[in-house]
Parts: sequence; structure tokens; C-alpha cells
Amino acid sequence: MSEIAARPPSVDALARSIASTGLPHPLCVDAARQAIAEGDPSRAAEIANAIAAALLVPVVNATGVIAHTNLGRSPVKVDRAPRAQNLEFDLESGQRGSRQIGIGRLIARAVGAEDAIVVNNNAAAVLLVLAALADGRDVAVSRGESVEIGGGFRIPEVLEQSGARLVDVGTTNRTRVADYRKALTKRGNDIALVLKVHPSNYRVEGFVETTPVEQLAELGVPVVADIGSGLIDANFPWLTDGPPAWLSGEPAARQTLAAGADLVTFSADKLLGGPQAGVIAGRADLIATCARHPLMRALRPGGLVLESLHGTMLAYLSRDASRIPFWRMATASLDSLRTRANDVVTAANCGRVVECASLPGAGSTPGATIASVGVAIDGDRTERLRRHSPPVIARVHDDVTILDLRTVDPADDIVIVNALRSLG
Ligand SMILES: *Cc1c(COP(=O)(O)O)cnc(C)c1O
Repeated sequence: MSEIAARPPSVDALARSIASTGLPHPLCVDAARQAIAEGDPSRAAEIANAIAAALLVPVVNATGVIAHTNLGRSPVKVDRAPRAQNLEFDLESGQRGSRQIGIGRLIARAVGAEDAIVVNNNAAAVLLVLAALADGRDVAVSRGESVEIGGGFRIPEVLEQSGARLVDVGTTNRTRVADYRKALTKRGNDIALVLKVHPSNYRVEGFVETTPVEQLAELGVPVVADIGSGLIDANFPWLTDGPPAWLSGEPAARQTLAAGADLVTFSADKLLGGPQAGVIAGRADLIATCARHPLMRALRPGGLVLESLHGTMLAYLSRDASRIPFWRMATASLDSLRTRANDVVTAANCGRVVECASLPGAGSTPGATIASVGVAIDGDRTERLRRHSPPVIARVHDDVTILDLRTVDPADDIVIVNALRSLG
């Protein structure tokens, strides 16, 4: 073996040779080092590309799942100048203000609550409510609602973290108000509140009974309902055609509060269609107790999230679903989707128009599908589409790649066309 061949190349020279990947130099150095350590310097560019693929970038969601958990749930518009905001500044008085007042009013008005606050996500909302209102005390939860929602949100574990104690009520399939009453009066129990949890992404069928909020409200302790998806009003005043046919049985914040819940908690990035955040809405005195808890400081959202959520809530109050991407996509007509699919197929000179089915996503409304239209290409082309810039995420069914146009912003149809053309 010649000495030259055995000598590893200089890390720096190898890093410079892969500068075209667009990564900053220190990351090219990482890739070069790893390739040399693995004994194959020729792999440096490949490693650099893998590093680049792990960076956060905008993608085109053609999966048909509108609020896709792996793709950031609800799509939201983010486009702003680098300006300061009155995050904690009162423009009236010129004094220090609260980041919660403005958004709290918008949400409270939209759901018919006395007040509302916003935290980082719904898991944080449930944790804060339990820590603030039930620390060191008992919380009654139906055995049928002691669930895991996905992504590690498990009711018994959240309760444990909050410092509250779980008291199981009823059975897995049937829990009556009498079961709650028994837990409330049992000697040794110190029930601070009843927690009702919407099982979201799973369903028990058959011999099933749950206790409605109306009956829980008569027990004499606060009722907290984790409704999950953030549907704000079962009457859908923001949709001109009223409730969509594909959505049924999803609890709504306004109706849950009207039925007697003292607080509701929900995600902002599921059916609400906003950025990642969690909402606590309901009785002003309970909200104030939550807002004063030391955990609030750790769970509060930042100004970008609050600004985005302001936009979402103002759209709801203006009854304008066209400003909420989730609802714009969910209610796009089949005719409009068919026209777009035809145009894409013609422009790309590739693929064919197909009927398909979209999903609302984010673990809400299990089993619900929305009729849709997309573009199909034979074979599994998902990897090539992912490598397009920007990446296009599609799904495969029976060895056919399907790009569902319901979850694609019409402004991105040109991206789909270019990605299809690049398949050759
Ligand atoms: C989704 C969901 C959660 C978790 O919400 P995140 O915003 O993801 O933290 C909690 N409870 C219910 C009922 C849910 O559906």
C-alpha cells in the first residue's frame, strides 16, 4: 500500500469541497470528520445532505392529513417585519401590561367564557389547571377517560406530575354520575375537581355510558373538561354552509361551558387551526388562580405564537374561515380541487387526476374522512418528492403515489408541478 493512499485527507479541505451543500462551514467540518472517521471520505457530501435534511424547513403537505402532527399540525401564515410588539405594554396607559389580556378577551368572546389564558400546548394547560387547583388533593377521573392521547400525553402521568392524586371513577366502559358522587363522599377522599377528558383518537363502542357535563356540574365541585381539539362552537358560525358533514360528536368549547363546565382546556393547533398553544377558558376566578401559579411563567407562550393566535381568533370573530388555513382547506369544494388537479396534471404532463380521502388529522374525530381530489402517479415516488426543494410530502397506497390537493395551498400547486416534472 502506498503511503499517500493511507494518509487521510485534511478535514478542512474535505469540508471545503462540500461547501456547495449550503451548510455553514462548522457543519461541513462535522460531516468531513465523520466521513474520515468512518474510513470513507467520499461519503462526506452524503453525510452533509443528511445533516441538511434534519434542519427545519417549510414543506408542501400533500398527504391529505390537514393538521398533520409530524408536519406541524395546522398550517399558519407567518410573515412579519422584525418589529417590536406591545407584548407586555399597555398602549393606553404607557405602563407595563399583560401578554394574556388581549388574547384572553378574543378567546373568551369566541367561546362564551368569562376569561381565558394561553400556554404552550394543551398538555401544559391540563398540567397548570391541576397544579393550580388540585395540588396535594384528589381529582376524580372516569376510568373510561384515563387515556393516553398520543405523543406521551397520559392522564395518570400528568396528574402525578401536577401534584394532584388520581381517583378512578366508574369502569372502563360505563361511568354514571352516581359513581362520581360515591367518590366525592367516600371517607378519606378530598376531591378538588372533576376532570372530564375527551378520548380524542380512540373510541369505545357498544355497551358504553359516559356522564354528560350537565350532570357533573351538579356535583358541587369544579368541572374541568379537556376537550382536546379546540372546536370553539358546535354551530360553526365561521362557516357559511354550517357544520361540515364529516365532523360529528366532537365536543365544542362554547357548548361545554354552557352545559356547566367551569373550565375547558384545548389545543390551538388542531381543529382551531392556529399555532401550537394550549388554552384554558372559563370562570374568571379559576383562571386567575391558574395565571398566578409559578408554573405559568415556565409555560407561557412567546410573542410570535400569541400574534399568530390573535390572527386566528380575530378571523373567528369576523366569521371569516377564509383567513384560517385549516378551515379553508377543510371546506375547499371538490370542483375547485378537481380543476386544480387537472391543471397540475396538464402543466406537469405527468400523473392522473384521482378521487381520494383527506383526514382532519391531529388525533381528532377518529374515522372521519373528507372526500377529496388529487394527483396519482404509479409506483412509490415519495423519496424523490421529499428530495425536491421545497420538499413535497405525499402518501403511497397500493404502490400508487397520491398527492392530495386539499392540504396544498393553491399557491403551491406550481411546486407540485415542478416536483412532478423533476420525476422525469
Ligand atoms: C391533543 C390532546 C391533548 C394534548 O394536546 P397538545 O396540544 O398536543 O399538548 C390533550 N388532551 C386531549 C383530549 C387531546 O385531544
